[in-house]
Amino acid sequence: MKIDIIASSSSGNCYIIDDGVTRLLLEGGIPYRQLIRELNKRSLKLTDFLGCLISHGHNDHSCAMKDISRFIPIYASKETLGEMKGVAISHATKTAIGTYTVIPFETEHDCPGSLGFIISSTITKENLMFMTDAKYTKYSLKQFPFDYVMIECNYVDELLDNDEINYALKKRLLNSHMSLTTCIKTLKSLNLNRCKVIYLIHLSDHRSDEALMKKAVAREFGIPVYVAGKHGGYK
Ligand SMILES: [Zn+2]
Ligand SMILES: [Zn+2]
Repeated sequence: MKIDIIASSSSGNCYIIDDGVTRLLLEGGIPYRQLIRELNKRSLKLTDFLGCLISHGHNDHSCAMKDISRFIPIYASKETLGEMKGVAISHATKTAIGTYTVIPFETEHDCPGSLGFIISSTITKENLMFMTDAKYTKYSLKQFPFDYVMIECNYVDELLDNDEINYALKKRLLNSHMSLTTCIKTLKSLNLNRCKVIYLIHLSDHRSDEALMKKAVAREFGIPVYVAGKHGGYK
């Protein structure tokens, strides 16, 4: 499975997965024109995708959802879809999209209907876990051996502890985004026996530390760890 990061932060999120037969967009959280530009750079157009999965309704994940839905189906919870037409998906219910099966799971975030995704390719027989904007998930995902993990690693606990500036923001991050500690704890709860890569996504601009996060996760699991770039790519 190929994973391509277009954008990853609280300013915008968009990812591409491709198993050689089916392409999916994960998140539509960058302005539509920018999305089309990014696809152009890759010699792609929206109709090259079979669908777009959206984790939740916050703008940085869904702002282009309406425009995208003119070309390909949007898969999201009924809360995320709202009045918009699309395919409503729900916790623990399998959905087939081309050569993928997708099992959504509920995540703890300050947005009703927030989902993470277990995405399996029937072509490559690989499993991907995608979880962003989540304080944690209360569900065990242990039964799935993951080949790839894309998980939010928003802030370093100590950087937030020492942060005096904005109490409201601090409280919000604590209650709705994933710390490095929780990220490691969540990864420990997964079956990573055959995991090839862990991508840390949706890093906070001011309360993260790429090098420290990458080192901490790599040390714990001995698996290659990449940090998703705010404007795409990874390090
Ligand atoms: Zn977000
Ligand atoms: Zn959010």
